[in-house]
Amino acid sequence: MDDLYRELILEHYKHPHNHGRLEHPDISAEEHNPLCGDRIRLDLRIEHDVITDVRFDGRGCAISQASASMLTDELIGMPVEEAKRFSKERLLDLIGIPLAHNPVRIKCALLALKTLKAGLYGVGHAPDDDDL
Ligand code: ZN
Repeated sequence: MDDLYRELILEHYKHPHNHGRLEHPDISAEEHNPLCGDRIRLDLRIEHDVITDVRFDGRGCAISQASASMLTDELIGMPVEEAKRFSKERLLDLIGIPLAHNPVRIKCALLALKTLKAGLYGVGHAPDDDDL
């Protein structure tokens, strides 16, 4: 792994952005990644179909938590329709590390996105992992 990306991930892991819980969130979702033991909970505030605030909480490996931190930075101010289409490629670009050869790490990196989609689409209606 490139040192620069590793540093970015550790920085987000140690000092996560938008960490915690929202009081009375409009949407709240929680997902876990049994392969690694990662867990992410996401609280969203939505006003006029725009995400105006977001917090995440969770535990797990550095990649899962750093990816949630980076994703939440992107989400604030984003229209719900755009967030629903937020692709895994876009998130992996943000994280910046080549994970294509590592299916376990990809699940860690995409857990936050999976949680977001579960929240926006509703449990049972979110896309499968492969179609995020
Ligand atoms: Zn993990």
